[in-house]
Amino acid sequence: MTASLVDPFARAISYLRVSVTDRCDFRCMYCMSENMTFLPKKELLTLEELDRLCSTFIRLGVQKLRITGGEPLVRRNIMSFFQAMSRHLESEALNELTLTTNGSQLNRFANDLACAGVKRINVSLDTLDEEKFADITRWGRLPQVLKGIEAAQRHGIHIKINAVALKNFSEEELPRITQWCAQSGMDLTWIEVMPMGDIGNEQRLEQYWSLNDVRTIYEQNYTVTDLIERTGGPARYIRLEETGQKIGFITPLSHNFCESCNRVRLTCTGELYMCLGQEDMADLRAPLRRFTDTDIPLETTIREAIARKPKGHDFDYSRQRLDGQVSRHMSHTGG
Ligand code: SAM
Ligand code: SF4
Repeated sequence: MTASLVDPFARAISYLRVSVTDRCDFRCMYCMSENMTFLPKKELLTLEELDRLCSTFIRLGVQKLRITGGEPLVRRNIMSFFQAMSRHLESEALNELTLTTNGSQLNRFANDLACAGVKRINVSLDTLDEEKFADITRWGRLPQVLKGIEAAQRHGIHIKINAVALKNFSEEELPRITQWCAQSGMDLTWIEVMPMGDIGNEQRLEQYWSLNDVRTIYEQNYTVTDLIERTGGPARYIRLEETGQKIGFITPLSHNFCESCNRVRLTCTGELYMCLGQEDMADLRAPLRRFTDTDIPLETTIREAIARKPKGHDFDYSRQRLDGQVSRHMSHTGG
């Protein structure tokens, strides 16, 4: 058996997030500028190359695969990739095949995703107000997303809502989204906005709303219990005793979560980022394309990259500056 991937801080790498495209049918204010320049299509890994890469990681011990982007469901023929990956679920090499999506194409693909063995999906949604939704996503339409979520639920897929906490925006949303998630049996996780990519005129410092404030609002309105449960990921959880629901907090800024990091990220061009908040990466496309009859050079490059996984990121807004900012967009690295 091949030895699993362990980094210099004794963290086993069992989770791969793969961005299958940098393109998207939305232009969320905190994620992209309105006029984005996307990669030329020829730069992208083909679906066959993505299959070979993911399968290599699975052979090296990755047990959870999250497909993301950009918007993963706008990549042409992406269902054939999900179907191909489902063989690793069947062989039990993979425990979970999942995705993060804006939900716009879920109505079309819910059935195929369920057939490929997808059991849980993260849907990003920051507001239940149609106008605010159109404003924040620039190009998105709320009813289409809600229809997609319902379709996924009808196919037995469990939905988790991810909402980015934004100052002067999320305050009003919090009670409504919380109630809606409780009524619809969906988990909810709040995310602090991270300084990733140039997003035009919007100011990060103006967008940033600490999840300490979000927690305070819950404490003022509910009985809050801290849960010790960790999923090996960055989220910390509370339970609202009145509704019984679990709320997650992803707090890269107000609380560093790196000590339990079990993940790496692969871009749609084959760059492997060992940390979301650092610039160091390994080019996997070169060994992938240069050696088509053996995966050994690819495996060696992956192992060498994992040996360089840093202890953590350096995001910091505390001095009212964008410390630790990285130039690439979240949609490039795969959020
Ligand atoms: N398009 C899909 C979606 O929106 O779910 C997947 C890709 S998107 C980049 C993944 C996640 O990153 C979304 O939940 C989005 O809200 C989040 N995101 C994007 N830019 C961010 C930023 N600057 N800070 C924090 N989260 C961000
Ligand atoms: Fe697209 Fe997701 Fe970024 Fe919004 S957050 S622009 S949906 S990639």
